Amino acid sequence: MAEKGNTAYASLLRERGLKATPQRLQLLALLSRAKRPVSIPELQAGAEGGGMDTATFYRGLETLTAATLVRKVDLRHGHTDYELMENGKHHHHLVCTICGHIEKFTWCPDNKLRKQILKQTKGFTGLDDHSLEFFGVCKKCA
Ligand SMILES: [Zn+2]
Ligand SMILES: [Zn+2]
Ligand SMILES: [Zn+2]
Repeated sequence: MAEKGNTAYASLLRERGLKATPQRLQLLALLSRAKRPVSIPELQAGAEGGGMDTATFYRGLETLTAATLVRKVDLRHGHTDYELMENGKHHHHLVCTICGHIEKFTWCPDNKLRKQILKQTKGFTGLDDHSLEFFGVCKKCA
């Protein structure tokens, strides 16, 4: 997929009521370039000229996550990874526990699963979001 220009990211931010600051635009461009979930240190390494410190990265990513432009992913790396939501759609991951290879899968059981869970829970009346990652061994490592 071609990388979106700053204009496209700027309008995405504005659609969500956010100012298109250079920092937010940079974060979106870095995440788009990564094409996979990445950690803050990985994002910092890809940033030209540095500039942003860890706290700034963190705050920026929190804002973009709250605006549903970015999604947090737990790949069992001991840190949070961040991934761009392409066209507003989320996906899930298969992770190789040996080499770390990541594969995306777009099928999401959310609707069916949510109904089942809400039927069974006594403590919740609604559910907003979910994470779904699978861990196994890839073809190369098998
Ligand atoms: Zn990671
Ligand atoms: Zn592997
Ligand atoms: Zn899902």
